[in-house]
Amino acid sequence: MSDVLPVIVVLIGLLGVIIGSFLNVVIHRVPEGQSLVRPGSACPACGAAVRPRDNIPIVSWLLLRGRCRDCSAPISKRYPIVEAVTGVLWAVLAWWALVTPDALPLLPLVLVLTAAGVALTVIDLDHHRLPNAIVLTLYPVTVAGLLLAGALGGRWPWAAAGIGAALWLVVIGIPWLVSGGRGMGFGDVKLAPVLGVTLGWWALSASVVGLFLAFGLGALVGIILMIAGRAGRKTALPFGPFLLVGALVGLLVGPAIGSAYGSWLSG
Ligand SMILES: [Zn+2]
Repeated sequence: MSDVLPVIVVLIGLLGVIIGSFLNVVIHRVPEGQSLVRPGSACPACGAAVRPRDNIPIVSWLLLRGRCRDCSAPISKRYPIVEAVTGVLWAVLAWWALVTPDALPLLPLVLVLTAAGVALTVIDLDHHRLPNAIVLTLYPVTVAGLLLAGALGGRWPWAAAGIGAALWLVVIGIPWLVSGGRGMGFGDVKLAPVLGVTLGWWALSASVVGLFLAFGLGALVGIILMIAGRAGRKTALPFGPFLLVGALVGLLVGPAIGSAYGSWLSG
């Protein structure tokens, strides 16, 4: 296993890069309510269709030096960045799933949620919302992913998963209710149980650590932006990215932090 481990990690990372290329289409079209399949990609400046050889993730952007082949209009750096970030995240998660006992059955769901998370993060930063077309689709996807994980791993932690979902829903939902939808959006509330149930299925500590990290990161970035004069006390920060980053880190390190905290309390 240890011999093929780097090969599998690299292959899943490359697959992530290709998925990232699709996410660029999602990021561009879902907020506008456009179809994901038609029409094909075209240069927004001159309308020329993107040729297949210019559609290779990351590589084409570098070869074209970030410009359209037809009209030389600049192509946003965001495209290769989304592809690279998705690839790196998929590689990290593949490595995590291969070296962590019992984690492998959960990998398919975690990869899908991470891809959706990349798209949601960029859309939330751009538009300050999390589209239902993505968030509500994650509900059946998550149920299917957990059923698959249970069938593959023979482990059915429904109670912990339910507690994780309820915890995230309450901790995100109450500030939303109290603030009347300022600071926290309804999209965040709808996304919360998806992340909470998956983290809880993995480990209750992961769901708790993930929530702490989400709020901690949100507060930290808010304070930094205020100090830098980029935000006032009433600036609404999109909170989706913090939830997603908190959930991801909670998944990877939550159980370790939980057991370290536990032994510190008892020691
Ligand atoms: Zn062009």
